[in-house]
Amino acid sequence: MELSSEQLALKERAAALSNGLLRKRGAEIDQSREYPWDVVEALKAERFMGMTIPKEYGGQGRSFLDTVLVIEEMARSCTVSARIVVEANMGAISTVMAYGTDAQRRRAADLVLAGDKPAICITEPDAGSDASGMTTRADKRGNRYVLNGKKHWITGAGVSRLHLIFARVFDEGGEEQGVGGFLAVRGEAEGLRMSKRETTMGLCGMPEGELVFEDLEITPDMVLLPPSGFKRGFGDLINAYNSQRVGAGTVAVGIAAGALEHAVEWAKTREQFGRPIGEFQGLQWMLADMQTQLTASRLMLHAAASSRGPSGSSFPDPMLAAQAKIFASEAAIKIVNDALQVFGARGYSRDFPLERMARDVRMFTIGGGTAQVLRTLVASKILGWKLPQTRDGYAMFENQSDR
Ligand code: FAD
Repeated sequence: MELSSEQLALKERAAALSNGLLRKRGAEIDQSREYPWDVVEALKAERFMGMTIPKEYGGQGRSFLDTVLVIEEMARSCTVSARIVVEANMGAISTVMAYGTDAQRRRAADLVLAGDKPAICITEPDAGSDASGMTTRADKRGNRYVLNGKKHWITGAGVSRLHLIFARVFDEGGEEQGVGGFLAVRGEAEGLRMSKRETTMGLCGMPEGELVFEDLEITPDMVLLPPSGFKRGFGDLINAYNSQRVGAGTVAVGIAAGALEHAVEWAKTREQFGRPIGEFQGLQWMLADMQTQLTASRLMLHAAASSRGPSGSSFPDPMLAAQAKIFASEAAIKIVNDALQVFGARGYSRDFPLERMARDVRMFTIGGGTAQVLRTLVASKILGWKLPQTRDGYAMFENQSDR
């Protein structure tokens, strides 16, 4: 896929930040586990926060493909910074831009352009892959909704201001309406509390936390009504998540690209048996396979980022996004692992970046839809069958000839 000169210039600008500040800060952020507010300032200065926000709201109206170019460059040096760029352009912010009212878009845009990385709150302790099994509820009381429940593994918990919370909606008679999106701003909303921060294996400067909603009141202006209403609200909201999926896959590719660069450099300079280790065919073929996997991943992600889902969707095609995320996340784990191998013992040392990259990259087959669940999505599409995963669902379809 050919990039325009404008896109190449954007990539170059992102590479300069990555090779400078982020290369220096990557290891420090990992060790301190502190959210990098200095990087946020640099991202703001480069206008990498809120790039996809339409111009009328102060953004640049950039495409998901533009965003992907920037994310990959960031992730070569610092995964946490790359994830900030994902969430400041995709996920919750793109959902608000697609489905929100004018006032909601303006509010969300102002927050992101001021440096906020919004949080998207779907997963619960008992509802992970089965996200539709969520129990967080939004009860209608007069013209408001009152939220109660718990979410966990929420990226940015405790640092994000804007939260997009998925909840089951009930009317005043207690009748279930479907799933809705509810906006809350930390610092303004009472009843939104972080109860725990996870101790993660990697991506250490980005807090992952548990959030508790205790009678969190949502005023009508903060209800994000999905286009087909609450009844099909989950489908609409999760469709918007396809942009985030492409973003997550791109972070994995960026880590892999960075790891491969390190491995190539090392293979050329490290000597054993009196020769650079890159002269050994055993390593040459490893490097070639790493590059091949990387190129394939990148092409799939660029195609997904440039695509649109069916029926006028403003989000990437779900099939392309799922395949790209599966392929890129699995390939990246292998590429980074092989790059670490090229470094020998030093790859295993905290004095070199490979072990951090190996810890960071491991996440991407899990968060944003696991590689298994995404395969089910792809299989469902190619078979033309609904593939409900509950026992009841299967039993129901077994009794119907048309599935
Ligand atoms: P489970 O659903 O318990 O799955 C366990 C295993 O079983 C997995 O391997 C899974 O693939 C497999 N499995 C489950 N069902 C099936 C099936 N039907 N067929 C085949 N295999 C199956 N969530 C948010 O809402 N917001 C966030 O910001 C966010 N950030 C995250 C950041 C990180 C670093 C991580 C690790 C997770 C994050 N998540 C977030 C949560 C993430 O979306 C979930 O972890 C993911 O959906 C899987 O849920 P689970 O962990 O409960 O695993």
